[in-house]
Amino acid sequence: MGWSKIPKPGTEIPSPATGKMIEIGPCLNESCGHHDCVELRKMAQSKCPECDKPIEYDEKYYNVTEDYPDAEGFETRLGIKMVLAHAVCMWKKVEEDIATKD
Ligand SMILES: [Zn+2]
Ligand SMILES: [Zn+2]
Repeated sequence: MGWSKIPKPGTEIPSPATGKMIEIGPCLNESCGHHDCVELRKMAQSKCPECDKPIEYDEKYYNVTEDYPDAEGFETRLGIKMVLAHAVCMWKKVEEDIATKD
């Protein structure tokens, strides 16, 4: 399972196919209403079940939906609950779990 990052609002990269700049982050205009932008904002605002802080943009995160069935998470536009956690929080947790094992 690899980590991902939510691109910051207004992030643009050149398309590998055409070289034309394409938007990969949500629009800077918070009320744009695009489905993709709404979803990315929801992801960035959803709380990490380990530290209870928002995931935020440009931070490494994991999809931990299966590991945290009771966490708040957020609902995707398909009505599926998803839980994201900071990668650093998960790495810390793994280290602590190892440390407390006898
Ligand atoms: Zn948009
Ligand atoms: Zn966290």
